[in-house]
Amino acid sequence: MYQQLIIKSGRERSIYNRHPWLFSGAVKQLPNAGEGDIVQVCSNHGDVLAYGFYSSANQIVCRMFEFNTDATFVADATYWYQKVQHAFELREKYVLNTETNAYRLLHAEGDFLPGIICDVYNSIASVQILVKGTQLIQDILLNAIMDIAGVKHIYLKTKKSSKVIEQVSASTDWINPPEEVKTIVKEHGLQFFVDVEKGQKTGFFIDQRENRRLLQQFCSGKKILNTFSYTGGFSAYALAGGASLVHSVDISKEACQLCDENIRLNFPSLNKHQSFAADCFDYIKTADTDYDIIILDPPAFAKNARAVDNAARGYKELNMAAIKKIKAGGLIFTFSCSQNIDRDLFRKIVFSAAADARRNVRILYQFTQPADHPVNIFHPEGEYLKGLLLEVE
Ligand code: SAH
Repeated sequence: MYQQLIIKSGRERSIYNRHPWLFSGAVKQLPNAGEGDIVQVCSNHGDVLAYGFYSSANQIVCRMFEFNTDATFVADATYWYQKVQHAFELREKYVLNTETNAYRLLHAEGDFLPGIICDVYNSIASVQILVKGTQLIQDILLNAIMDIAGVKHIYLKTKKSSKVIEQVSASTDWINPPEEVKTIVKEHGLQFFVDVEKGQKTGFFIDQRENRRLLQQFCSGKKILNTFSYTGGFSAYALAGGASLVHSVDISKEACQLCDENIRLNFPSLNKHQSFAADCFDYIKTADTDYDIIILDPPAFAKNARAVDNAARGYKELNMAAIKKIKAGGLIFTFSCSQNIDRDLFRKIVFSAAADARRNVRILYQFTQPADHPVNIFHPEGEYLKGLLLEVE
């Protein structure tokens, strides 16, 4: 039996709609439970509505993972194992094949399992525990990941915000470290070095897999500028697509080095690629190459809701610089991975950049995240990656 959290009358709607977040304003009576404990969410009339992880200090006071109304429900080890199993089956069906083996196994709310992200790179998994609730069942979840996905080494990476806001005490550490941290993964037949320890995010930006493939189709004979290139994901696809020249720009020297290594790994005898460790805002404004295609894939400028205005200015400046710079008839692949800037707002920002750049712009495609980053339909906040393919007249 779990402790009960009782909500105010009239606040059931979002729970009936299976939204996984319960905000503190909807609570009538807090449970007598510890941080991260599983609680039973009940209506004012005593009906069981859902089960979730309790976060006493957070505005999101409970993250619900089960909308079972049976009062005797228990989330045991088998229950968690099955959640991971279901997540794995989805990837097996729609993502994994002989050409692609880097994937996101667990995408938090997108897999009806709030509070955990898990990316798999061969026998290594990079895991982020985001809330105390998943930390309390960490051993069960990690064992399930190893067993189901054939993972042998787990790198636990705890974000600062999880420690501060969610009181997650997990430190950044290995569970069974591998002999060699750097591993080579495959994505649509291309190969990439991934270093989960030194790399950004969980080591690789798996979420751009399908968007990179679309880029590949347009690159034959073209000059490409890949900004915020990190380890060269888009650059490798551009070369695979027959680009005549590819420039990768990233502020991090280490990222540029790894980008060069990745290009050599795939195209050992090709001489069409160059990396530049530079600020992309300056680079675009001053570059003298006549680019046919520019990729804009910056880091999340809006890390929280308060940062949205500043972030919007950043996206506008960047997009305007690219729209001004690009050759007539050229293409811009522009992205935002800020959760707090939704699809509509992003499009308005790009609209405003195009208006100020005083050029005709058409949208040819709209991008999103791939199937291993699924969006729970009841949790639209989980759709974080958005992008546009622009044709500039
Ligand atoms: N497009 C990449 C992922 C980009 S991640 C891929 O497909 O893998 C964002 C990158 O932007 C990071 O590598 C970071 O080092 C870089 N970055 C952040 N601010 C920058 C700036 N002002 N100029 C250039 N690079 C920057």
